[in-house]
Amino acid sequence: MNFVFLGQQGAGKGTFAQHLSEKKGLIQISAGDLLRAEVKAETNLGKKVKEIMNAGELVSDELIAEMIEKRIKEVKEKGFILDGYPRTLKQAELLEGIMQKLNLKIDAAVNFTIGDATTIERLGGRRTCKNCNKVYHIKYLPPKITGKCDACGGELITRDDDKPEAIKKRLEAYKKQTKPLIDYYKEKGLLKEIDAEPKIEEIKPVFDKIIEEIENKKITG
Ligand code: AMP
Repeated sequence: MNFVFLGQQGAGKGTFAQHLSEKKGLIQISAGDLLRAEVKAETNLGKKVKEIMNAGELVSDELIAEMIEKRIKEVKEKGFILDGYPRTLKQAELLEGIMQKLNLKIDAAVNFTIGDATTIERLGGRRTCKNCNKVYHIKYLPPKITGKCDACGGELITRDDDKPEAIKKRLEAYKKQTKPLIDYYKEKGLLKEIDAEPKIEEIKPVFDKIIEEIENKKITG
């Protein structure tokens, strides 16, 4: 199965992508994580995108498409979850081209919906492992030991773009560029919507049921 996860920042795309990849063995492809890895490794791409990312703006569609295609090719046998990609209509069209070329298909686009106040609260409290990128929240999903990753023991940090000014910019960019995607996937009959305001534990059963339905439909054709 191959999924696209949509939803504004803080909706829980990354958290549910981690959950689904643990449950079904799918590979999580996070555009943001791939970009941050390039920045950390100080590659040519990393140098180009660092400033853009720190300002909370979007990296160019072509650069992202190239990076995503490479990753999809590496993991396509297992199935994947695209988390944070596509973010613009142009990216969705580029993705469709990539999928056709590789003879693959998107089974569903899951849209996690929340309000702006929730985004601000969730991102402000978010901590990310510097080493493995696992995400936590100081209030809702704390690590066992403060400041340390449960999975790898790495240091937990606040990302530069989770600071208030960047959050505002990211929300504006989201609203302007990502909303048309929802209509795009709706027209294709692939859209599934989830109210992502409640606590993770409350959303999980709803989410799992949606995934089961998609899986059953795929098996029975
Ligand atoms: P995220 O971790 O998904 O919040 O992404 C962090 C930053 O990476 C964004 O603010 C953008 O600068 C960049 N980025 C991530 N995904 C994309 C994408 N699909 N298109 C363009 N830029 C992206």
